[in-house]
Amino acid sequence: MSDIAVILPDGTELSVEEGATVRDAAFAIGPGLGKDTVAGVVDGELVDKETPLHDGANLVIVTDQSDEYLDVLRHSAAHVFAQALQRLHPEAKLTIGPWTDDGFYYDVTSVDLEQEDLEAIEDEMRDIIEADLDIERVLVDREEALEKYADNPYKRDILEDEAAGDDELSFYQQGEFEDLCKGPHVESTGEIGAVKLLNISAAYWRGDEDNDTLTRVYGTAFESESDLEDFLNMREEAKERDHRKLGQELNLFAIDETTGPGLPLYQPNGKRILDELADYAKQLNLDAGYDPVETPHLFRTELWKKSGHYENYVDDMFLLDVNDEEYGLKPMNCPGHATIFDQQSWSYRDLPVRYFEDGKVYRKEQRGELSGLSRVWSFTIDDGHLFVRPDQIEDEINLIIDNILTVFDTFGLDAEVALATRPEKSVGSDEIWEQAETQLRAVLDDSGIDYGIEAGDGAFYGPKIDFAFKDALGRKWDGPTVQLDFNMPDRFDLTYTGEDNEDHQPVMIHRALYGSYERFFMVLIEHFDGKFPFWLAPEQVRILPISDDQLGYAKKLQYELGDFRVDIEDRSWTLGRKIREAQTDRVPYMVIVGGDEEADGTISVRDRKEREEKDVSVEAFRDHLRSEYDEKRPEPDFLADEE
Ligand SMILES: [Zn+2]
Ligand SMILES: [Zn+2]
Repeated sequence: MSDIAVILPDGTELSVEEGATVRDAAFAIGPGLGKDTVAGVVDGELVDKETPLHDGANLVIVTDQSDEYLDVLRHSAAHVFAQALQRLHPEAKLTIGPWTDDGFYYDVTSVDLEQEDLEAIEDEMRDIIEADLDIERVLVDREEALEKYADNPYKRDILEDEAAGDDELSFYQQGEFEDLCKGPHVESTGEIGAVKLLNISAAYWRGDEDNDTLTRVYGTAFESESDLEDFLNMREEAKERDHRKLGQELNLFAIDETTGPGLPLYQPNGKRILDELADYAKQLNLDAGYDPVETPHLFRTELWKKSGHYENYVDDMFLLDVNDEEYGLKPMNCPGHATIFDQQSWSYRDLPVRYFEDGKVYRKEQRGELSGLSRVWSFTIDDGHLFVRPDQIEDEINLIIDNILTVFDTFGLDAEVALATRPEKSVGSDEIWEQAETQLRAVLDDSGIDYGIEAGDGAFYGPKIDFAFKDALGRKWDGPTVQLDFNMPDRFDLTYTGEDNEDHQPVMIHRALYGSYERFFMVLIEHFDGKFPFWLAPEQVRILPISDDQLGYAKKLQYELGDFRVDIEDRSWTLGRKIREAQTDRVPYMVIVGGDEEADGTISVRDRKEREEKDVSVEAFRDHLRSEYDEKRPEPDFLADEE
């Protein structure tokens, strides 16, 4: 038998016999690792340990110490759910049941499930876990598999679609239960330390609203009860901070059935925050040498045909017929910016050219997928497009990463960074890919930030760096990206004149600092629990007169603090009630004034953390606000801390 080579995470090659599986490779590394192997990650995909390897495969061995172990465990928990469901509701038909970032779900049909049915199913799941049933992988031929699912059109659909080419199909079996599944799974049901069924929602077969409606049951699983408890506490906290709930309570935004789904309306409080965010991004962009541009919401679809987006995006586009010509709301800003670049002739000395625009885009997501500000039909990207010479990639990426990290810092968010490299199918020469990837790596290495490599995960038109926001609750959200593009300059035939007087093609870079304003706003609302930093807060100071006698003094103070967003609480409430209301509204500073303060011409200042300082001069307070605003501190600090 001939040998094949697989590539281990540290870049070394391991030679194994042809036909060797993930587990064989683990044993070749060491018998201890071989015994501990739960599964493998081959070319980025989590697979069963019996999966045969191919020459050149990137291989990671998964043990119960790996991050991926939880995914495996949760997928096994999904099977335990399905088994328990079939015991209690034999009429239920199973469709798919994958793991997710924080648990698993199973889509089922032909069964009527309510939230209160979940407890009994959960009890049955615990029995199955206690029984510690072996989970075995069984290979079944196609005919037999189709027979097993004679009355389950969904599983047959999978067999005829995703698994169309396979003669042998893997089933996983535990006790009386079996399920068509690629795996991987843990060894036995007893390995699942703790399970919890969370909620029920509706879903569509294959996520398409034209297909059958299914019942989706969400659950989660952990190695231990205490891990589960931590998760449930965090989930409660997340519910309290839900941006849809806070958005309504703080009058930030609304989504109204009459004006349309997925089309957010910003109330004054929300718009004030968005304006601050836009001003901040604009300043960063101007400082970094970007030029502002503007494009309309609507283009002839000729533009999308030229850019190549039409082919792939037409189903997600809002199209309009104007005088027998097809127009579309723009799903992205890039082709508009490429066209602007093309209006001038450029020399190598003019590059890089950097454009930015807060560009509103429209994408027709499935209605069932829409949710608050996280999935919408209309959103604004803080979009930047750069046109650079190949030798300028490194410097430009450096500058962009610098700006992105500044943004993370300003908002007190942690970053998770990944470099996605050339996929199998791609455009652009080997030379340009090599040059680009080398420069991206060099920048990331120099920056000292931790980053992962997503091998083969780049776009077909260029490599990219993805940033995820990690918020105060440790949750991860898609953030900004930096994307190199060798394709669009080609499609738009963009050129600049080189030193050699010949035409050359620039590289295009797409980048955003926030990503979309909508998504970023959502992250900020939940990250700060609505307690926005002073510079962002829609109402920055609320003046609370102790009695109506001080209303005149309050108005004078409002005028003196006129650079900031200051309101007066003029309802005839007790001071205690006024303070509670300001606290609920999450106003950063309360200024309390009574007869004494008015007589002395001073104020009492109270912050959201219930710290209070008396006899403050208005001037000192104003100076403090100015510095807090200008420095854009993520956490407000108090006057007394300043010395
Ligand atoms: Zn499965
Ligand atoms: Zn773009």
